[in-house]
Amino acid sequence: MDHHLTRAQFLTGALAVAGSALLAGCTQQREEHSSTTSETTTGTQPGSSTTTTTAPPPPPAEHYEGRVPREFGLHMDGITDNVPTTPGTTTVALTFDACGGPTGSGVDQGLVDTLREFSVPATLFLNSRWIDVHPHETQSLIDDPLFLIHSHGTLHAPLSVTGQSAYGIAGTADPAAAIAEIEDNRELLRTYGVESDWFRSGTAHYDDVALEIARDRGVKIAGFTVNADYGATSPANQVAAAIMDAPDGAIVLAHMNQPSSGTAAGVRAALEQMRGDTHRFVFIDGTAPTAL
Ligand SMILES: [Zn+2]
Repeated sequence: MDHHLTRAQFLTGALAVAGSALLAGCTQQREEHSSTTSETTTGTQPGSSTTTTTAPPPPPAEHYEGRVPREFGLHMDGITDNVPTTPGTTTVALTFDACGGPTGSGVDQGLVDTLREFSVPATLFLNSRWIDVHPHETQSLIDDPLFLIHSHGTLHAPLSVTGQSAYGIAGTADPAAAIAEIEDNRELLRTYGVESDWFRSGTAHYDDVALEIARDRGVKIAGFTVNADYGATSPANQVAAAIMDAPDGAIVLAHMNQPSSGTAAGVRAALEQMRGDTHRFVFIDGTAPTAL
């Protein structure tokens, strides 16, 4: 593979405020474990040898053994459900997941083209399985300052330490699996020059111990306020209405891996109505491309 460092990832915080609980995520079945680290290399990350941080390494999996989760779901402490707002405008963060897997590895080029046509920034959460199928598209998206790239996990599993499932998709079975779900795709993105510190699990479900594991590794969790396409199953008019009705500070969740869905047409219809100065579109971390 021929990957290059192409962009910086911005590191600012975002407010964590609970939003409405709605069905989230993707409907693809989880695959059995497969090698997702075959492209992982070591010693090639720019700057890796000049790091001066003295922060201790994150705890190993054994640190979390025996912990019993108290919660499992879409919205809880430790999940960022909103972005900071600015007086006088409605701030919205559009986010699109690329889930990968046998039925989830398409490219919604119409959606990508629409975002580019309207110069609307978006955060794209890419799963390892999708990246492995689309290395060149991945690089193209990384190269485009309109998009901020972060992680949608390695196997597309709910992040759990007990294997708790969501929508029939089994969660990670133990702390070691939860760490791998975070870190293996993070390492894959690193081979593309992306240092990702935002994560959204497959199905967007977590337990509280898994959230602690992510936090201990410096990873922030991207929740959502508005589920715009219900796993890319909503018709275009419903997608458009959900986006146009998004409240100030909303994180909007939709998908970029189902080109036959209504998502692209819905996003286009919404953006046509949201032209002008009424809305400010930002990345998941609250920043916006400086060129816009
Ligand atoms: Zn997904």
